[in-house]
Amino acid sequence: MIPAAFEYHAPTSIAEAIGLLAQLGDDAKVLSGGQSLIPLMKLRLANPRHLVDINGIPGLTGISEADGFLRIGALTRESELEESDLIRTRYPLLHDTSKVIADPVVRNLATVGGNLAHADPANDHPATMLAMGAEVVAAGRGGERRIPIEAFFTGPFETALRGDVINVYAHSDFGRAFKAFHRDHIAAVNKRTTVIVLGDARNNYNLPHDWVLKEIRQRAKQLIWLNPENRMTWGFGDSEMDHYAPHCSLVEECRNLGQLYRVIDRLVAA
Ligand SMILES: Cc1cc2nc3c(=O)[nH]c(=O)nc-3n(C[C@H](O)[C@H](O)[C@H](O)COP(=O)(O)OP(=O)(O)OC[C@H]3O[C@@H](n4cnc5c(N)ncnc54)[C@H](O)[C@@H]3O)c2cc1C
Repeated sequence: MIPAAFEYHAPTSIAEAIGLLAQLGDDAKVLSGGQSLIPLMKLRLANPRHLVDINGIPGLTGISEADGFLRIGALTRESELEESDLIRTRYPLLHDTSKVIADPVVRNLATVGGNLAHADPANDHPATMLAMGAEVVAAGRGGERRIPIEAFFTGPFETALRGDVINVYAHSDFGRAFKAFHRDHIAAVNKRTTVIVLGDARNNYNLPHDWVLKEIRQRAKQLIWLNPENRMTWGFGDSEMDHYAPHCSLVEECRNLGQLYRVIDRLVAA
């Protein structure tokens, strides 16, 4: 289980990393936490001739809120998400995601950027970021691109990255997600359909587009909302739960397996 020989590069700026990636082309791979790439190299399922280690580049870590966005630096470790008060209190879905990834040793090294860039369908962040309407910010030769998460994953283990280094912005925008659902799926909703929404309804002060829920409710058998936040916080700040709840046939607080089992029991019994 020894990887094939490779050359190691340790750029100290994004510009230097981009230059290396452009120069080395398909022979090079970005190295972040190494928790997916190194095992693949040991098994010789990946044999890059050059590794571009971005861990020495300043400015690629950090978790902050600004202009209605949550910004997560690509090199942010899973353990940092897990330990962040901001993530725990304002983004419980992300907090829950980070907690279930692997074990503490892996979480100390694995990065959010690497989890997304690897695009393994079995990874946890892709689904969470899709649910949150994230944007991936990719820096490459042509400058910076903001890629909506729906367009980021182009297939299993494939992304829209073209030799770029990434950063992640997540901003929950339920209104936008509902409009997309209406555009793509409303025709499939009928009286045999149960629609379940999972989320905290924190809409970052975007348009709530609750008319979509009204229409789903009219067409569907049931519309169920499972919210991981405490009921006391619903409707406060940017939570649109007060607007969304009246359109739902069932609204439940649900942030652990016990609560989920109770909801399922109620649904099965009904
Ligand atoms: C034992 C074990 C259990 C695991 N369990 C889970 C789990 O339960 N859930 C889960 O989601 N994941 C799990 N993982 C995967 C883990 O989260 C990975 O570390 C993660 O998928 C990749 O992140 P990384 O930082 O280690 O990336 P790396 O391994 O360094 O890179 C992975 C890929 O992404 C590319 N890449 C990395 N960073 C960037 C960047 N910033 N820009 C562009 N390309 C980049 C690399 O070139 C490489 O192709 C597990 C891993 C292990 C070893």
